Amino acid sequence: MWKFASVLMLVLSTAVGAMAQSGDSDVKAIVGANVVDIDGGEPIRDAVVVIEGDRISAMGPSGSTRVPAGAEVIHADGMWLVPGLMNMHTHLGVIMAAQKAELANEKTTELALRVAANGRDVLLSGVTTIRSPGDKQGAALALKKAIAKGQAAGPRIFSAGEGLPITAGHGSDSGVETYDGPYELIKAVRSRVADGAVWIKIFTSGGISTPGGDISEALMTPEEIEAVIDAAHRFGRKVTAHSGSSKATSLAVDAGIDCIEHGYMVDRETLLKMKANGVWLVPTITVTQPASTPFFEQQGSPPWYMARRETVGKTHWQALRTAIAEGLDIALGTDFLPSEPIDGTTATIREIEYYVAAGMTPTQALRSATIEAAKLLDADKDSGSLEVGKYADILAVPSDPTQDISTLREIQLVMKGGTVYRNDIAGGSRASGR
Ligand SMILES: [Zn+2]
Repeated sequence: MWKFASVLMLVLSTAVGAMAQSGDSDVKAIVGANVVDIDGGEPIRDAVVVIEGDRISAMGPSGSTRVPAGAEVIHADGMWLVPGLMNMHTHLGVIMAAQKAELANEKTTELALRVAANGRDVLLSGVTTIRSPGDKQGAALALKKAIAKGQAAGPRIFSAGEGLPITAGHGSDSGVETYDGPYELIKAVRSRVADGAVWIKIFTSGGISTPGGDISEALMTPEEIEAVIDAAHRFGRKVTAHSGSSKATSLAVDAGIDCIEHGYMVDRETLLKMKANGVWLVPTITVTQPASTPFFEQQGSPPWYMARRETVGKTHWQALRTAIAEGLDIALGTDFLPSEPIDGTTATIREIEYYVAAGMTPTQALRSATIEAAKLLDADKDSGSLEVGKYADILAVPSDPTQDISTLREIQLVMKGGTVYRNDIAGGSRASGR
């Protein structure tokens, strides 16, 4: 699939194998590259980045930072290093319209393998961490376990398990379990926690596409939303809401929600209320913008859907511009598979480009896909920037992304936790000869 097809076999045979072997090349050094400072400072030019195990152990200019004896050297001359990208809204088990017939009777075993393949594509595309606000049959949680055991290659996964749709609401497609009233919802929250979910996902308004209630309405009652949030917070889990409307968003903010997904039609007043309460926004802007129109056409989306998408796209864009101008906390999410080919790149990169077009500086946009996302996940001690002590989740791109964000379209190196999953750098062969 796509341009990674050629490296898939290589990755299957080396990356997963390397994870299982561990030991012989536990120390690596990336040399010759410049390290981007996502805090806006000067880059480290001609840097040495030393990786021991899965973390960065030393980093600095080559003049003062030694490559440890015996280290596996990765040459990245003239490249620019950035943290692995983090996509906060994706569903690895997603079934697109064009796949519906083919996957109508998909077995659980088939789903698991499809999700594993998607996870591998996501990682190879440069996305080293994802949040899954809505699993299919717990498949992302299963993949997370398999990745931890070295049985599969994929990103770090922060999953909400299956979402909690209400009867007749968004996400309540046939065959999906629904939950109504505080007590059913509280029970469901605890069940997700028991499954290993670190987030809880609710649906407070309708969506663009489904018959599940109007996008401009507030479908869950205040007491339902409050019950979910209270039950989740008692277990230290955060709650995020699919929310298109100002009305539903305002209710959720009052109830203590942590994050809002999409915000398709949210007005300025409500965005300011989110900001005042420290509520995050995950925009998924690419879904409603022109760059993904060919994607939906290829999916055979009906004219009424395309028209609705265009209308919502205008308010969605306005909401994003306002959120950026007002300085809301924004973490990148796509709702597409992060590696989905959109407009000549991936959905994740296209989303970053849209943030720049909507008013972010390239550095801010890069932050939304790295350190800001890590903060949303409470994972910023381990991820989100290139610092000594953090995971060695590292990408290399040809030029300085703080000057030209679209250089992210040309990712040349993907490392996660010190393991190289992709290296397209010319002459970037491993010094150790493995
Ligand atoms: Zn979604």
